Amino acid sequence: MAIRNIIQVGDETLRKKSFPVTDFGEKTAQLLDDMKETLIKSEGVGLAAPQIGVLRRIFIVLIDDEYYECINPVIIKQSGKQIGEEGCLSVRGKYGTVERPMKITCSYFDRNGKARKTTVSGFTARAFCHEYDHLDGVLYIDKANDVKECK
Ligand code: ZN
Repeated sequence: MAIRNIIQVGDETLRKKSFPVTDFGEKTAQLLDDMKETLIKSEGVGLAAPQIGVLRRIFIVLIDDEYYECINPVIIKQSGKQIGEEGCLSVRGKYGTVERPMKITCSYFDRNGKARKTTVSGFTARAFCHEYDHLDGVLYIDKANDVKECK
């Protein structure tokens, strides 16, 4: 495993659309392991592959004991809304208020290529939506109108 460098806003890689994963072998497993180690080291709650410069449709979310690895995710259902603060490991030292769905259902593949589906709500749903946006080159600062500096 290895800690990867997290690229920062201004790098155009963050603005590109990521490509679907077709390889469910060792290389993808290695990437996921590196992403998890990088996320833990950074004390974040989520990380998308483009944030480490890999334009593949993969994100991970780690909230307390809940850990998700989502490959080729699709948000197939969403309901309600929530308004709350968000930050991003690629936009250091800032936060902003973003509206997100309260509950979402996401279909995805796990590292073994097995199709899965999960329904999450609240903060976990927020994290999923934030990470999902990264795969399309969208950052939360595009959606927040009050991006502030952390004190
Ligand atoms: Zn982010």
